[in-house]
Amino acid sequence: MKYVILIGDGMADYPIPERGGKTALQIAATPNLDFVATAGVCGLVKTIPEGLAAGSDIATLSILGYDPAKYYTGRGPLEALGMRVPLEEGDLAFRCNLVTVREGKFADYSGGHPTNEEARGLIAALNEELGGSGCEFYPGVSYRNILVLKSESKNNIFAGAKEIGGAPPHDIIGARVEEELPREGVLREIVLASREIFGKAEKANLVWLWSGGRKPEMPAFSGRYGVSGGGSVISGVDLIKGIGRCVGLEAVEVPGATGYFDTNYEGKVENALRSLKERDFVLLHVEAPDEAGHLGEIDLKVKAIEDFDALVVGKMLQGLEQEFADFKVLVLPDHYTPVSLRTHTREPVPFAIFSSPQAHAQAHAQAHAQNHFDEIFARQCSLAAGRGVLDARAGDLMRQLLKEER
Ligand SMILES: [Zn+2]
Repeated sequence: MKYVILIGDGMADYPIPERGGKTALQIAATPNLDFVATAGVCGLVKTIPEGLAAGSDIATLSILGYDPAKYYTGRGPLEALGMRVPLEEGDLAFRCNLVTVREGKFADYSGGHPTNEEARGLIAALNEELGGSGCEFYPGVSYRNILVLKSESKNNIFAGAKEIGGAPPHDIIGARVEEELPREGVLREIVLASREIFGKAEKANLVWLWSGGRKPEMPAFSGRYGVSGGGSVISGVDLIKGIGRCVGLEAVEVPGATGYFDTNYEGKVENALRSLKERDFVLLHVEAPDEAGHLGEIDLKVKAIEDFDALVVGKMLQGLEQEFADFKVLVLPDHYTPVSLRTHTREPVPFAIFSSPQAHAQAHAQAHAQNHFDEIFARQCSLAAGRGVLDARAGDLMRQLLKEER
């Protein structure tokens, strides 16, 4: 049996008054998602536990059946692992944004989206001035970089740092830097030093350190819920690759997987199908619908969902049918990213699970009563089946995926 999870990041949304009260999923033409919802099991699942921030890190851990309250140690270490930054026991890894400050206030969380080359230059300058004393900067993609405070460095002036960092920079635009800075300690020193080092830079003129933590210790995914043949993760986003690596999944590098609207959908699906010849599980993540949600662009979000449906869900189902006798496919968003709010929210999300081959007969029988995969239909299913809302972090969703009967 092959198991596939397809995540359309941030697809879930609120009813949009200007569009007749429909959600983005309801507006989008999604024949393949609809097929899964019609032929398979559908419902609602809670992916963001109480008290934790709504985001892909927390949601993806939950979906895989790892309780974030127990295993999450910060975004920094997960992204570092996704970038193959070596982390040893005791090292602290932080997200290190390049940001723009004007008149003492945060003006841009992304430092004007520097090119990778520009960012590399700035990161090299930081390493030159501050590196070698237990403080290492690693360039990532554009403004998204990593700082590691080593625990074992001989002349480590940063030993004992326990800070987890500042607020997420996208949440403090307009705030005064001085008010957001830690009062004392090494993180304050590094941020202030970056201002000196970047001196003349116009766009990215400060680093901001946040969501730091140590490498999380998580039990392997293989064997945990009965998927024994190993697995892979495919995503354009370092955070998701890092989560995969942390639980022993192989992070498959796909050329052109950008985490943006121009991502290489075809390459992702090809690699997913290829990896299933050797392993039993794959998680394929597409970032684009979330980006559209953050931009507040409803048409772009509908297009991103339609691309996900046709180029990922459709192609994946086709490929699976050709290559494998027995497979199960779970489709879902990780969280809501309503275009009206342009940020994540924590409502339970719709999911659907297709199981081969018994679903074929069902699909035939229901061909004339086509259901639509969306928030409202999923709620009806949850109620009708008496299942209620599943709790992903408790492993409910993984158990539902692995269930033998339908
Ligand atoms: Zn997002």
